[in-house]
Amino acid sequence: MLIRELCQILNEIAPIRLAEPWDNVGLLAGEESSPVERVMTCLTITDASLDEAIAERADLVISHHPIPFKPLNRITSHTTTGRLLLKAIRANVAIYSPHTAWDNASHGINRQLATMLAVQSPVPLTLAADPELAKQGLGTGIQGKLSRRFTLEELVQKLELSLPSIRPRSTHPLQQTISNIGIVCGSGGSMIGLAAQRGCDAFFTGEATYHQCLEAEALGVAMVMIGHFASEFFAMRQLAGMLSRRAPEIHFWASVKDDSQF
Ligand SMILES: [Zn+2]
Repeated sequence: MLIRELCQILNEIAPIRLAEPWDNVGLLAGEESSPVERVMTCLTITDASLDEAIAERADLVISHHPIPFKPLNRITSHTTTGRLLLKAIRANVAIYSPHTAWDNASHGINRQLATMLAVQSPVPLTLAADPELAKQGLGTGIQGKLSRRFTLEELVQKLELSLPSIRPRSTHPLQQTISNIGIVCGSGGSMIGLAAQRGCDAFFTGEATYHQCLEAEALGVAMVMIGHFASEFFAMRQLAGMLSRRAPEIHFWASVKDDSQF
């Protein structure tokens, strides 16, 4: 299979059009016409995950987080991004990032978190601007009702079944009960106002800033932060499995060295 063909499969699983306008997604380094036999998924390209990809002879790394993310006017070893890009390109490792396209996909990260939390009839916090995607019920984040009132602690326990590494922090006591939840994986704290507008009484995300927590407190919405890594890494394992079923001739695996939890 060629990288171009694998990109098409990725675009079916996590449509590029679903990505946020500020994002940088798709094939970010590499040649579309190159053959691909070995592919590693990871959350972030770091020295550890890239060294693993090179040692395991990966042709392509699917990194959830884009590298490069912002436009570059030089690629040198003076910056971390430049150094990692040089290392990948020298080792003939292509880079693909699905990022917010995968966050918001119909089987993507936010939907998977909603399934873990048993959210009833989940819908996006905000529908996609693209009318065709909006018609399919796709957009940014997830919200929905729960089957009954749950304590935050019970919801955290539900997540722990699938995500044993979560390190939950909450702006409100874990004994508080809620019935309407919003979810945004990764750094979702800026969506707290929207979650409040949509009637959510709790908002689960990977991480948020101190000021976003203050806003949650002022809005009366419990912000539960489960850790950026924990909120997304599991889905890169899932993606490797989904891709293996779609392209069995390629060896896919999820990085075992990508464990940047802070
Ligand atoms: Zn992230």
